[in-house]
Amino acid sequence: MFIHAMQHNSELDAFRTEVRAFCTREIPPQVARKQARGQHLEKDEYDAWLKRLGARGWLTGKWPKEHGGLGWPPEQFLAFQEELGRSGAPPLVSFGPTMAGPVIYTFGTPEQKKRYLGDIISNNTWWCQGYSEPGAGSDLAGLKTRAVREGDQYVVNGQKIWTSMAHWADMMFALVRTDPNAKKQEGISFLLIDMKSPGITVRPIIGITLGHHLNEVFFENVRVPVENRIGEANKGWTYAKFLLANERVGNVDVAKLEAYLHQIRSLLEATREGGKALAEDPAFQRRLAEHEVGLATVKALMADQLAAARANGAPSLMGAAALKLRGTELVQAILQTGIDALGRHGMVYQSAALHAGWNGELIGPEESADVIYEHLYRRAATIYGGSSEVQKNISAKGALGL
Ligand SMILES: Cc1cc2nc3c(=O)[nH]c(=O)nc-3n(C[C@H](O)[C@H](O)[C@H](O)COP(=O)(O)OP(=O)(O)OC[C@H]3O[C@@H](n4cnc5c(N)ncnc54)[C@H](O)[C@@H]3O)c2cc1C
Repeated sequence: MFIHAMQHNSELDAFRTEVRAFCTREIPPQVARKQARGQHLEKDEYDAWLKRLGARGWLTGKWPKEHGGLGWPPEQFLAFQEELGRSGAPPLVSFGPTMAGPVIYTFGTPEQKKRYLGDIISNNTWWCQGYSEPGAGSDLAGLKTRAVREGDQYVVNGQKIWTSMAHWADMMFALVRTDPNAKKQEGISFLLIDMKSPGITVRPIIGITLGHHLNEVFFENVRVPVENRIGEANKGWTYAKFLLANERVGNVDVAKLEAYLHQIRSLLEATREGGKALAEDPAFQRRLAEHEVGLATVKALMADQLAAARANGAPSLMGAAALKLRGTELVQAILQTGIDALGRHGMVYQSAALHAGWNGELIGPEESADVIYEHLYRRAATIYGGSSEVQKNISAKGALGL
């Protein structure tokens, strides 16, 4: 259900115009060119763009004003996402603004808020998420990375895995075990770890896309000041769950969904089979219509969760699970339509074409490599942030009151 309490449509329209004009003006031409071809951006290209958004407060527009946000109502956040998606803007990165930030402003000390929030708002700090371990994914509370207190420091030993963008990160928010004897959810603490600390090793994992996005992170006697702990010792599970609800809302990227739909619609219009554009094929028309309806549903579910976050400080665990489930199924369905539209060209993955400067011969339409890359990458959408089965368990437990 959309809420229109805060803004008249004319204000929202003016905001949309402002975002569009900003994107036209502020996305550097070489970044726009790469984006149009689906090519990978370098960290400094992302960083420069995110800093431009950050200078306006737009990375954290939905944060409450008292924590440095703009207090955007749900419809403004959604409008922002839609306009970014339609303008071909580089994707947002959610580890700081959607995950670390809300935990810090909700549970952090005044010193922690002062130290970290400003740098998240302006994108001066890149964050990564140290939750999963080789033996702890769906069973996250089974994590084993150990933090032993020595005076005013913790000494951390262990391993994290699947750590997205750890190789770019300045800071990690991490779950560590501080009491090995307690019930597993009760012996966990939540630490903010400087990635430059001695004893941290980051090793790449090359995934199905053949790109470097994922990592393993090893900790060997890493010293973390106790002042970097969020909230109380052994209460980390509470903050971890709060973060997961925000993460799952953030896992559904409306800007990306808009951009994919736009790209695939153009592909269907440009691809001719038997003398006719695929866009005229009733089967593809039906699928596009289903995707449009799916996107409207996802936006409505998201608006509900954004409203819940404004009213209660956090989205609901159950609502976020339903949104994550629907949104990630939708992204996979849209990209599957893209692969089907590519037909035989969908079978040739020229990953080298995703790097600027490549001047080989493309097999198939210009967007082939990008559509295939996104299709492969988003196979993980129903895994990261908690698998679909886990989201169904959360929904079922919530609905049955278990
Ligand atoms: C691209 C990508 C990026 C990621 N980024 C990060 C990151 O930045 N930081 C981070 O901490 N983690 C990250 N992850 C890890 C992610 O959170 C885990 O992969 C996920 O939680 C699943 O855990 P697992 O891989 O250990 O699988 P498992 O937990 O071993 O699950 C295997 C299968 O069993 C099913 N299953 C497990 N338990 C149940 C159950 N109780 N009921 C029904 N079915 C069940 C699962 O649904 C799944 O199909 C990322 C993963 C991917 C793929």
